[in-house]
Amino acid sequence: MMILDGKRISDEVKAELAVAVRDMVARGERPPHLAAILVGNDGASETYVASKVKSCKEIGFASTLVRLPADVSEDRLLAEVARINADETIDGLIVQLPLPKHINEERVTEAVLSSKDVDGFHPVNLGKLVLGMPTFVSATPAGIMEMLKRYGIETSGKHCVVVGRSNIVGTPMSILLSRNSNPGNCTVTLCHSRTKDLASFTRSADILVVALGRPEFIKADMVKEGAVVIDVGITRLEDPSSTKGYRIVGDVAFDEVAPKSSFITPVPGGVGRMTIAALLNNTMLAKAQFSSNQKPQCHVN
Ligand code: NDP
Repeated sequence: MMILDGKRISDEVKAELAVAVRDMVARGERPPHLAAILVGNDGASETYVASKVKSCKEIGFASTLVRLPADVSEDRLLAEVARINADETIDGLIVQLPLPKHINEERVTEAVLSSKDVDGFHPVNLGKLVLGMPTFVSATPAGIMEMLKRYGIETSGKHCVVVGRSNIVGTPMSILLSRNSNPGNCTVTLCHSRTKDLASFTRSADILVVALGRPEFIKADMVKEGAVVIDVGITRLEDPSSTKGYRIVGDVAFDEVAPKSSFITPVPGGVGRMTIAALLNNTMLAKAQFSSNQKPQCHVN
């Protein structure tokens, strides 16, 4: 069994990006600039945004964090998106999800300029992904593909089972892995809450990608011997013994599944790290597109 070390690989990606930024600045260009809008003060969202901003600083990107109160009106939020869309010194914009219930997430996602949509959530970018056109690939699937590539994991001809069909993780992941590409060329089964006898599918997976948001849901008896297991889940469980008062748990029961798997991602230190690396990479691509007026290149092809 080998751990797919998201920290190590994301550090590699970030080091490469830092070199590219230094070259860019040495040529007299400004560094890439990522803006994030955070609505309210949900603990998990605060943590995610803080680590994105911190990663920008580490590699020399500029970053702007716009904080809006939880009761902000949709119009005010859309006005902020429009302001950043129009700001030529900002290359990428993310609006941290989830948004408060009174705000229409779809409307906000669509309001972000597709050329600044480094999260890859905009319908135009998701549509291009489906068509195999150059685009911003949603950061979590892009990060997983990068990890598979850097570990040289064979995907061609494998049966990949994706559990969870969200627009930001499961669905794009299933599309990327089924494409005629490397990594890719898998035969993909996409499972969800209506799947009957889920274990019969997960047990047949050479590559199992789990993104459902239910802590330690996947047990050892649901996994084939030698499978590659990618755990996307992040759930905060109360833990008074931890200084933070909580611990982060994935969707896979790591201790019992790891001995059966050939490769497995830990939580934390796996997919989450790669998501941030992919987001930074998308921001670099957005900057390159802005400088040269090119179309964004697909992160994975
Ligand atoms: P969603 O809640 O949007 O989707 C969950 C999916 O899981 C749905 O498709 C749902 O099916 C399916 N599901 C729920 N229960 C079951 C079940 N019992 N059996 C089979 N399928 C089930 O989640 P996200 O994709 O946004 O996130 C999933 C997890 O990944 C969360 O823990 C989230 O925090 C984490 N995450 C981690 C990231 C990272 O960087 N590591 C990034 C993004 C998310 P149905 O469609 O039928 O309801």
